[in-house]
Amino acid sequence: MLLKMVIYQILLGNHSPATWYKEAKRNTDMTWLGRGYKPSRTVWYDFRDRAGKFIDQLHQQVVDIAIEQRHLDPSIGALDGSSVSACASRHRMVNLATLNKRKAILQGAIDASVDPERTLPKWVPPSEVGRADLLARIEHAGEVLAARHQQNDARPSGKRKDPNKIVVSLSDPDAPLGLDKRKTYRPLYTIQNVVDPSSYLIISYTCTASATDAGMLPVMIDQTQKITRGSLKRMLADGGYCSILDIRDCTDRGIELIAPVSASGTSRQNKSREGLPQIPREQFTYDAQANHYTCPAGEILKYKDREKKQRGGDRFLYQSRFQGDTETCNACVLSGQCLSGKGGRMIKRTEGEELLEAQRAKMLEERSKEFYALRGQSVELIFGDAKGNRRHDRFHGRGLKRAETETGLLTLARNLHRLDRLQRNASNPMKTAA
Ligand code: SF4
Repeated sequence: MLLKMVIYQILLGNHSPATWYKEAKRNTDMTWLGRGYKPSRTVWYDFRDRAGKFIDQLHQQVVDIAIEQRHLDPSIGALDGSSVSACASRHRMVNLATLNKRKAILQGAIDASVDPERTLPKWVPPSEVGRADLLARIEHAGEVLAARHQQNDARPSGKRKDPNKIVVSLSDPDAPLGLDKRKTYRPLYTIQNVVDPSSYLIISYTCTASATDAGMLPVMIDQTQKITRGSLKRMLADGGYCSILDIRDCTDRGIELIAPVSASGTSRQNKSREGLPQIPREQFTYDAQANHYTCPAGEILKYKDREKKQRGGDRFLYQSRFQGDTETCNACVLSGQCLSGKGGRMIKRTEGEELLEAQRAKMLEERSKEFYALRGQSVELIFGDAKGNRRHDRFHGRGLKRAETETGLLTLARNLHRLDRLQRNASNPMKTAA
């Protein structure tokens, strides 16, 4: 009964248990759905937390019914992700020094070792329960911050952040920090959806404590395969899901990836040492057998060395460097548009780059273009509907677990709504004929 009422509220755009409580008291539709039951505020909050345990099972049931009734095609999925603001203030982010200072003040207030004459800061809760709760959150925030410092220390020295600028949200320490759709730096979570492009039903979803989509393609393929019992054959995605590792992951899993290769990185337009647009690396031809490049002037750029490059988490790729002869390059008529420094022209090539070249060629085919056109029409629509019609632009509970539950409830509500429409259309001879 509670689930029915919650699904109705989510479709109206109400995602908070506090609103469900108010609506159950004053909305006649809710009275009808709950047969007069008006639960307390605590019941709603408890239900939201309990729903996390069964929401995946319910989602699986809806997908199974949709496949069985031939409304959902499990062989194709369109993937995309979108960030949603966490239930946390972007003004309450602290660095390690501030966190330790606050912890000392709070500990003093709890131990009553603070001078009674001294006024406590406003952020110290008045009750003992509130203080204990805040102390637990500060301790958790300390662990998260320590992990972020460790990650920062593992980066190459040129890419390390100033340790004082590494911060954590005290309202929701689990939430990573990143730029939201309005380009505001804040705590957020990222939702990933795999949608069937013909029925607009969501096949699989996830909510992660990450600020980007990087590395999510294999995770979503595995999850979709689990839900559809290995029926997925083709995945449509945007350029953010088309790295060398993503293409390899798809090949290993026997999935055809329909995604354009992102223009960033390899084909970035650089300036030459004379300030002119530099001759792009695409004009250099790679010879795999000889392992060298040939430049537009016909000179050879020999293999120089290679280095290990980190690519998401603990995965690495080797990047080789090829360089032209310094004297030949400096004497070349094209040197003004080609060289960026005093040495010969340098070209970098990442291991597996031939996969990107093959993917680029594949995306020029008509068949790939037709498939790719389905992506924008389906998965983008799903995110637009969530943010516009269901007003889901912010989570309403703190922590990753609650964010996952909220995502699951939203997915279930929208899938049930969509499946109902598909079933009605299927039983309507006028619609079936159309
Ligand atoms: S500057 Fe060197 S690499 Fe560039 S076109 Fe001339 S010879 Fe080739």
